[in-house]
Amino acid sequence: MNYTGKPRDVMTLAHELGHGIHDVLASKQNLLNYHPVLPLAETASTFGEMLVFDRLQSTLESAEERLALLCGKIEGIFATVFRQIAMYRFEQEAHRLRREKGEQTTEAYCELWQRMMQEMFGDSLTLGEDHQWWWLYIPHVFQLSFYVYAYSFGELLVLSLYAQYQRDGESFVPRYFDLLSAGCSATPSQLVTDMGIDIASPDFWQGGCDLIREKVEQAKALAATMK
Ligand SMILES: [Zn+2]
Repeated sequence: MNYTGKPRDVMTLAHELGHGIHDVLASKQNLLNYHPVLPLAETASTFGEMLVFDRLQSTLESAEERLALLCGKIEGIFATVFRQIAMYRFEQEAHRLRREKGEQTTEAYCELWQRMMQEMFGDSLTLGEDHQWWWLYIPHVFQLSFYVYAYSFGELLVLSLYAQYQRDGESFVPRYFDLLSAGCSATPSQLVTDMGIDIASPDFWQGGCDLIREKVEQAKALAATMK
């Protein structure tokens, strides 16, 4: 990687190191099932980022630096959780329209894209005219339909696991290592069940959502001290 000493580089290093740890732990599996499936592919990397993020936050001295790091993290989470879900809904709707009403015009896709993305931003900003063409740059709408759920799933899974780690402390670690060591030798839901976590429980996912809310509240409080 290019390392220029910026916080972003530290986070990238933490991310890639996470992938390394995942691969080393899963290397006891065979060639066919050592590599994690897509929904779990970013588990160790995102978890590693969370650990390093919290550590960095505790060492930064100025409120400005802490806020900058925090906002970067929040924007990354929003782009992975909310934006991918908005894209997933766009794909669902685009395919449904095509199925039920036949060939669609370019303008119809532009309008759909604009509407779905605006919904994500609520009234926080108004998307400009040019934004309506952005769906054109995403090849997976046509080539790998609906797979983007994996990004939201993966990020929320890690946030929820991290919330669990904060609650359980030390006892979480061996169970987490077992998850990584399994590679893709079992389904994500089986692997998480083996950790004693019910993937179908809204409470588990709420833990991750609460973590996002907590970060937004922290950012607001930090920004308020700088006025
Ligand atoms: Zn990655």
